[in-house]
Amino acid sequence: MKGKEHWLIFGALVLAVALALILRAVPESAIGSIVVESCRFVGELFKLALQMLIVPLIVTSVISGIAGLRGMEGFGRLGGKTVGFYALSSLLAILVGLFLVNLVRPGLEDGQPNETIRAAFNESEAAAPQAALDKVSGATSNATDRKATDFRDLFRKMFPKNVLAAATDNGQLLGVITFALLFGVAITRLPEAQGGQLADFFQSLNDVMIILTRWVMFTAPVGIFALIVPVIFDTGIELFAKMGLYFSTVLGALGIHFFISLPLLLLVMGRVNPLAHLGAMKTALLMAFSTSSSSATLPVTLRNVQENSGVSKRTASFTLPLGATVNMDGTALYECVAVIFVAQVMGISLSFGEQFVVVISALLTSVGVAGIPSASLVAILLILKSSGIPNAEAAAFALLAVDRPLDMCRTAVNVFGDSCAAVVVARSEGEDLPALALK
Ligand code: ASP
Repeated sequence: MKGKEHWLIFGALVLAVALALILRAVPESAIGSIVVESCRFVGELFKLALQMLIVPLIVTSVISGIAGLRGMEGFGRLGGKTVGFYALSSLLAILVGLFLVNLVRPGLEDGQPNETIRAAFNESEAAAPQAALDKVSGATSNATDRKATDFRDLFRKMFPKNVLAAATDNGQLLGVITFALLFGVAITRLPEAQGGQLADFFQSLNDVMIILTRWVMFTAPVGIFALIVPVIFDTGIELFAKMGLYFSTVLGALGIHFFISLPLLLLVMGRVNPLAHLGAMKTALLMAFSTSSSSATLPVTLRNVQENSGVSKRTASFTLPLGATVNMDGTALYECVAVIFVAQVMGISLSFGEQFVVVISALLTSVGVAGIPSASLVAILLILKSSGIPNAEAAAFALLAVDRPLDMCRTAVNVFGDSCAAVVVARSEGEDLPALALK
């Protein structure tokens, strides 16, 4: 199935969209709701199966990747390069978003705040289902409570007081990664006879996890079909029509980062063929797009980067789990565009200095956003509130209502950004990567 995997997934996506559109066209049919509800259930099972893999996969791949190094020279260098690349690519993404949102000005109409969109903000607050209201009000109180301390929270998350509890909580993967990294380093400090055995043990566990990933991926076409049908079926098109320019701005900026900035970084810093890497990542990108979750995609990202792009286990298992948790180019870009768009609609003109604060806030908060669907909403609320933009909650409801398609695209950009870091770091560590050689 390996070579055909992405075609099967792509076919499933197309079929799902077609079926959902047909079902939407037939109002109130009993068959329609049975089909959609069954898909919702199967999709949920598929996502749960993927999520089930995340913690054991991260733990075994990080520990075996690090412990296998025996001696550990160059560990700090690897860390420095990875974090440096993540900061650079996120900043680049935000600047692309900032440039485009100021150029297109999707929140304005003839130079004035767009009244239709402002009215839509209020309508969507009135029409929001209770679940959505709870989600946003929960996020709002968090956003206000944590305003001053949010960035310090990131460091706190690195050292959870109970690593098993952190492993069971989706937002706490950073603590699990830190623990696994330290654990792997500690193994290298044991005497050879003892440490070697432990390293082999974690290597075998990791191999088992890879087989489990393969099994789950075998069901991917069905899982993805089931995930997409309800998404398309549920999403109304009215609000999309009103927010069309905003959509195009976000998609345009994501497209520039995905097709121009990241490939340029691959070419210039990694001296590899960007198209070959894009091809190698097809399955992971389709998974990211379908699940809207970089964490759920991680098992596939690890697999594609190692098996198709040829990055070593050492580099991949260091850069990718960390990237899925802290590096989100698409999310950072989206936060910046969304905040400036809302400011435009509300008639607030942000000075250069204020926009600079938005850029820095987007960079920092994107690090703390979890790799799960719609997670950036909390960060957007945080920035809207700290920038003093009125009606932040109402705007957040409207953004939430149309979030899914944009989330799908920005998650694909997030995952691609992580994979580019793995390639660039691998090249700088002297890896050849013949599969990505420039012709
Ligand atoms: N869904 C995104 C991810 O998992 C996070 C977000 O932007 O909401 O990468």
